[in-house]
Amino acid sequence: MSATKFQEIGGILRTYQRFAILGHVRPDGDALGSQLALALSLQTLGKEVRVWNEDGMLEKYSFLPRAELLTKPPSTPEDFDVAIALDTAIQNRLGNTLAAIRSAKVWVNIDHHLSNPGYGDVVYVDTSAPATAEIIFRLIKSEGLPLDRDIAENLYAAISTDTGSFQYPKTNANTFEIAAELIRTGLDVGRLSQQLYENYPRRRLELLRELLRTMRFQQEGRVASFSLALKAAAELSVLPEDNEGLIDHLRSIRGVIVAVFFEELSDGKVRVSMRSKTEAVDVCAICQKFGGGGHTLAAGARVRGTLREVEERVLAEVCAKVESLKGTLDRTWRFNA
Ligand code: AMP
Ligand code: MN
Ligand code: MN
Repeated sequence: MSATKFQEIGGILRTYQRFAILGHVRPDGDALGSQLALALSLQTLGKEVRVWNEDGMLEKYSFLPRAELLTKPPSTPEDFDVAIALDTAIQNRLGNTLAAIRSAKVWVNIDHHLSNPGYGDVVYVDTSAPATAEIIFRLIKSEGLPLDRDIAENLYAAISTDTGSFQYPKTNANTFEIAAELIRTGLDVGRLSQQLYENYPRRRLELLRELLRTMRFQQEGRVASFSLALKAAAELSVLPEDNEGLIDHLRSIRGVIVAVFFEELSDGKVRVSMRSKTEAVDVCAICQKFGGGGHTLAAGARVRGTLREVEERVLAEVCAKVESLKGTLDRTWRFNA
């Protein structure tokens, strides 16, 4: 099945000339690394490629090889043969890049989100993949597309960030085999990891201090949350990208099963990020109730309302779920003794 699908996508990549490679709003390492990797491979084949994201390249990922290729979309729409959405659960998460595509003969959707409804003409959604970049790697290998060190670094950064440094449960032997093959192209794991994890601006830690100040626990410590008000974000001069990964501090606490992060946005909505340590609590299902989506153990939503209102509504839903599973969780959740 995957071989046939890869052949179909490979055929499209070879046949056509003009490509737009798009990723989700508020991009992460997987979106940006997957976009750049596929773009570089296509460029090597002599294709014309645009690589767009609503937010453009983030400061913290600007060390990625050929990062300058990734830009915000132009205000004048362009015509393409093929538009490819990567790592994007629902089409409207492509944000304002959508309006920059005046036409595309074929829409390709490559992703690993459980909540992806399969939009587009050619769809490859593998929910077992720990990162979209892993699918891109397999596509490149199975179709004999170009793979060099620059492409490998982008794929490695994407896989490393989306697996929480090769820790999350979807990380498997195949993930390490792919990492090994990427490393053999000559990439320097130590240097790349330093760029990814030991190069944060000081304000990110000041933001963490503020978040920890608001930290609260419910359900006997099984549910942990913190929140960021617009005013506090402004006072600390934080960028949206600064908070990626901070929710992991909540998840790292013994006994916590669900971690929730609330971020007040300037459009009257609140961005909700949710993480779970067990499939018994499916945070994708909870976020879908609020119009969002994601994966079983990592999901999000944007919910209209004030910070307090959204916190109460969402936490009530999370607590009800955890409450309903209490007996089961205590028996099956080995870290929750
Ligand atoms: P985040 O908490 O922003 O890191 O997102 C966790 C996961 O949920 C990511 O894989 C996102 O792509 C997905 N996700 C986050 N927000 C939304 C949303 N509003 N709609 C659909 N999926 C989302
Ligand atoms: Mn992503
Ligand atoms: Mn991803």
